[in-house]
Amino acid sequence: MGDAFQAEVSVAWSQTCWTRAAAYVRLQTAAEVANALGIVKETGTKFALRSTGHNPNAGFSSAGDTGVVLDLRNLASRELDAEGIAKVGAGNTFGEVYAWLAEHDRSAIGGRDEQVGVAGFLLGGGMGAFPNLYGFGADGIKSAEVVLADGRIVNANAQENQDLYRALKGGGSNFGTHGPNGDTGVVTRFDLYTYPLLKIQYTINLYNPQDYVAIIDATVKVQEAMEKDTKIGSFTNFNAQFVAVGLLHAGTSSERLDAFQPFWDLNSLITTACPTTEGTLLSLAQTVSTRHQQNDGKRRIYSVTTRVSRELYGGIYRLYREAVKELPEGYVLHFTAQPVGTAAVQAGEDRGGNSLGLEKTPQCWWVFTCEWARKDDDAPAEKALGFLEEKVEALARGKGLLLAYKSANFATGHQKVLHSYGAENLSRLKETAAKYDPEGFFQKLQYGGFLLRDNA
Ligand SMILES: Cc1cc2nc3c(=O)[nH]c(=O)nc-3n(C[C@H](O)[C@H](O)[C@H](O)COP(=O)(O)OP(=O)(O)OC[C@H]3O[C@@H](n4cnc5c(N)ncnc54)[C@H](O)[C@@H]3O)c2cc1C
Repeated sequence: MGDAFQAEVSVAWSQTCWTRAAAYVRLQTAAEVANALGIVKETGTKFALRSTGHNPNAGFSSAGDTGVVLDLRNLASRELDAEGIAKVGAGNTFGEVYAWLAEHDRSAIGGRDEQVGVAGFLLGGGMGAFPNLYGFGADGIKSAEVVLADGRIVNANAQENQDLYRALKGGGSNFGTHGPNGDTGVVTRFDLYTYPLLKIQYTINLYNPQDYVAIIDATVKVQEAMEKDTKIGSFTNFNAQFVAVGLLHAGTSSERLDAFQPFWDLNSLITTACPTTEGTLLSLAQTVSTRHQQNDGKRRIYSVTTRVSRELYGGIYRLYREAVKELPEGYVLHFTAQPVGTAAVQAGEDRGGNSLGLEKTPQCWWVFTCEWARKDDDAPAEKALGFLEEKVEALARGKGLLLAYKSANFATGHQKVLHSYGAENLSRLKETAAKYDPEGFFQKLQYGGFLLRDNA
């Protein structure tokens, strides 16, 4: 196996995806993308699309030895037009987009980590640092140029192919493939709204998990404050040894924000991992990335969404502790509360709507993550996440606090993400797929993903 081949195998963030495909095809231009799709269609070859390979579900952007991975990382054009619309290729990371836009004093809505790919993030909805300010990543798409199954390249936006435009905002890889402005003149790309460069302030504190009741109380208080101030963002990441809390504000102020006082009042601070810093989305993403470096490890994730409740959050934490107790040494289990306010859902509606089917209510997008060494057995990790999936949903359902939504960006492969968007959205997605891909090419030949074929 040559170095280039091995490099492709091991691009993926999670080693659960380090399977050897039959071939990896690095595509340089949109025309090559259309060509490659034509060949896999003609030969009936299974394929997977990869932008940066950050999705940890095996078979989504990786394939086994009967499949081909179409690697879009080199499709990395970037152009800012006179109206401030950023036209970016599918192969960009948000770190690259933020750094480039900062040179133009602009910001776009992207991920909280610099290494994550634009395409997977946006097509999966996309949770940024400040969802309440401008909505989710998908809501920031003004237009997309799409290579369809028959090789046609179409625009999808509020004026053209509106059904496709809405479908793409959360609908994943069911409709076509997104690429950049190639040098052949064939154009496919995401056009993103931009805003004057966001000056932000952030702090990351580590607390003692024994104080979880008070930490949860502070998390809920900050979420309540978000309903009044859309510039507030936060995350609370529970680990066995510490709880990492990100306090984020899309504004600069030398004063501590009152909304974060419940955290400053806690007596359980272990250390300040990142002291209060004035920066940008880029510097925040760089800071967060230092905690997410790629290392030798397999990962599995799981998504659930609930309403806000101290009692429920406490119950979730206790279930987590039960799961941790059962894990052998070397398996790291952690979970994150990602608060979302009503303003975030409203922002999506204001930008023409998306496919996510979110209830307009304060909510928490939970993501559970297990990480373990490649040499170790997958079973304990699968068992731990399976336990949490069953118990957390049952707990939330029993209290009337479970929401249907599952985030594509945080869900494990078997979760029915598209189904979770609700009957109306699912039916729209099916109609759109039938219209733009009548032969079901993306359903039949795509290796994996949150596909309509699994959400009947
Ligand atoms: C360290 C880390 C931090 C993260 N932070 C965040 C965060 O802040 N917010 C958030 O919402 N998510 C976050 N995620 C989750 C991330 O958004 C998803 O894993 C996403 O799928 C990654 O996209 P990608 O393009 O990098 O991945 P890939 O693994 O390359 O692709 C993911 C999926 O998208 C499809 N796809 C890729 N390119 C295309 C294309 N051009 N056209 C059609 N389909 C395509 C693939 O087939 C695959 O199903 C994070 C993940 C990691 C590992």
